[in-house]
Parts: sequence; C-alpha cells; structure tokens
Amino acid sequence: MQTIEQLLESKNIRVTAMRLLIYKFLAEKQVAVTLSDIENAFDKADRTTLYRTVKTFEEKAIVHQIDDGTGITKYALCEEGCNCEIETDLHLHFHCNICNETVCLTEHKIPQIKVPDGFVSENVNLVVKGICDKCSR
Ligand SMILES: [Zn+2]
Ligand SMILES: [Zn+2]
Ligand SMILES: [Zn+2]
Repeated sequence: MQTIEQLLESKNIRVTAMRLLIYKFLAEKQVAVTLSDIENAFDKADRTTLYRTVKTFEEKAIVHQIDDGTGITKYALCEEGCNCEIETDLHLHFHCNICNETVCLTEHKIPQIKVPDGFVSENVNLVVKGICDKCSR
C-alpha cells in the first residue's frame, strides 16, 4: 500500500500538511463533496489555499469534478491509477434525490461515445438519478 505522501510525490505534488489533511478528508468521505463542505471542515484555513489545493488535485488526477445537475460542482477522489482520461477512466455517478448525495460508481465506466468528425470531447458526465441504498431502506 502506498502512503498518501508517496501518492502525492508520484504525481509530482509537493507534500504539505494542508494537502495531506484535505486528501484524508476526501478519503474518509464516502460521497462527493463540494468546496463549501471542504471550507466548513477546515474553517480556520485560508479559502484560497483550499481552493488551490483542490485545483492542484484536479489537475494531477487525484480528484475529479462531478457535475451532478444540482448546479454545484462536487469533487471525489480518483481511483488508484486514474488519469481522468475520457476513454478509460471516467465512470458513472449516482445522485440521490432524497439525501442529495452523489457517489462514484467506479465499476461502471462510461462507454466510449463517438462524436461526429470535427467535434472534440473534453469531458463527459453521466449521472444516474434516483434513491440511494440508505434512503431506499
Ligand atoms: Zn480521475
Ligand atoms: Zn440517499
Ligand atoms: Zn467519480
């Protein structure tokens, strides 16, 4: 098992206390989080630092952005080995209409979608909406 430090270093991210804390926060969450969730969890930290950390993680494929249709961008940790490539790494997300939480369905990859000639795909979002296992009980 890789430590978080090794993981960050393998992605050429300098290890800082703040980065480790944010990584751990994301790892403990079973659901995708918003920037305000992160701000609330680290209310003593500088917001710009938090924002930049998330952006760095996103650029280095540590986290991915999720647009679940709620209008608020959410973030979740990438799986090991993820490069956030459209062809290989993107997966479905599930948004619960009751608790409003969004989870990664990492075992369900997004099928390759061929766009017409001249079109360039930059991102794909596939969100299944419904009732999650906790709310359906
Ligand atoms: Zn990723
Ligand atoms: Zn739910
Ligand atoms: Zn995901």
